[in-house]
Amino acid sequence: MMSDSLVTVAYLVAAVLFILSLGGLSTQQSAPRGNAYGIAGMLIAVAVAAVAQVRDFGLLAGAVAGGALVGAVLALRVEMTSMPELVAVLHSFVGLAAVLVGVASYLAPGHVGATEGSIHQIEVYVGVFVGAVTFTGSIIAFGKLKGVIGSKPLLLPGRHLINAGMLVACIALAVPFLGAEPGEDLRSLLIQAGIAGVLGIHLVMAIGGADMPVVVSMLNSYSGWAASAAGFMLGNDLLIVTGALVGSSGAILSIIMCRAMNRSFLSVILGGFGADEGKAPPKAAGSAPAGEATSITAAETAELLREAKSVIVVPGYGMAVAHAQYPVYEIATLLRARGTEVRFAIHPVAGRLPGHMNVLLAEAKVPYDIVLEMEAINDDFPRTDVVLVIGANDIVNPGALDDTTSPIYGMPVLEVWKSKHVVVMKRSMASGYAGVENPLFFRPTTSMLFGDAKKNVDAILTSLRATAAAAE
Ligand code: NDP
Repeated sequence: MMSDSLVTVAYLVAAVLFILSLGGLSTQQSAPRGNAYGIAGMLIAVAVAAVAQVRDFGLLAGAVAGGALVGAVLALRVEMTSMPELVAVLHSFVGLAAVLVGVASYLAPGHVGATEGSIHQIEVYVGVFVGAVTFTGSIIAFGKLKGVIGSKPLLLPGRHLINAGMLVACIALAVPFLGAEPGEDLRSLLIQAGIAGVLGIHLVMAIGGADMPVVVSMLNSYSGWAASAAGFMLGNDLLIVTGALVGSSGAILSIIMCRAMNRSFLSVILGGFGADEGKAPPKAAGSAPAGEATSITAAETAELLREAKSVIVVPGYGMAVAHAQYPVYEIATLLRARGTEVRFAIHPVAGRLPGHMNVLLAEAKVPYDIVLEMEAINDDFPRTDVVLVIGANDIVNPGALDDTTSPIYGMPVLEVWKSKHVVVMKRSMASGYAGVENPLFFRPTTSMLFGDAKKNVDAILTSLRATAAAAE
């Protein structure tokens, strides 16, 4: 057994490593170092917690080996495009763990090293509540991200009253629970967990596709608070600190995402507050796009690029699906060698995960200095010759700025239509994640390059290379 002070010191070191890890993750250059700090902190945390708190090592080894195997297989198999779903599932595990720890430490407080008395009762009650909301909310988010549940918000009439009713019921159940002897009123605890679970489902069901980025980061925050609650129940200081770090960084990220989307944080977390009661927003809202879309070939696109002095690439979810980032980088290198200015414009909610596009471009070794965030590049479109929109849709929708009936109205977008020529690469005229028509496709300066993004980007690259070779 380790002495208490040694455990405290080790936990302190791990907590500092976690903070350094978060600091490191703030820029792409320092992210690998941040990850290394995080891994080191977690190794210390798990090893010390095992030595200090676990009595049955056989059981622990079995659980760790099983979990590690499942985790490793999943992590190796997961496609970058399915990462958000995986993250949502992992959040649900944290929620479920908090519920289970809560019930276990309520029934057998001595066994799980918890504090005594009524403080512990409150810890259990609150922990189970947060855990249950996180658990079911994350499962619904998983379903929405995977597409098994529609991305349209479920807007029941009087839904805010329903939510308030469930919250009041949970608070009311706390009275008999806290009044009973510890371990004697499991019934109230389980009923509360059930109501909180329904609340989690209802909260996330009411959030529309366009607001899902905030939901993902918000559930990340909830999972942190659930872990923190588990830390209180188990009397583990490091779990409390780590949970609080995850909880607060998730909350900060949610607020940043809300600002980027020009949404009010409160209205998003209360579930579609701005949307009409009782009916889902119209699918093809607002100005029905007029006119016909013009299509273009890969060879013609290559010709446009050859003549351009400045090019901006706008990557979106479709680029991730098609794995087109590698040939895109080669096109950028080729054009830059010819003296063309090439930059990448990143919308804060592009793809399906905060930072999704940055990760893909970093993977393809695109230099960081030509990857610009929306705010830094949005004013440059009017002086740009060609914009290549690769598998992006909602983030370049002009309706977000001028169509008040659009579900994404108010969200700042990349104003690509202000450039001389826009080439949009996608497979069809289908809408994006938010389910909204995109008038960009019908603008006179827009051309549609239909087909799989990887195939088309490869074809453009081949065409550019062929002319480069002929010129030599
Ligand atoms: P969108 O989902 O709006 O559009 C992606 C487009 O890519 C689709 O219209 C699709 O059109 C096209 N596409 C799909 N596969 C391919 C392929 N193989 N080749 C070529 N094109 C393809 O993505 P955006 O990145 O523009 O916007 C992100 C959306 O996701 C926003 O609505 C955002 O709110 C939401 N979201 C973002 C999250 C985040 O954290 N970033 C999290 C959750 C949701 P087609 O089918 O015609 O090919």
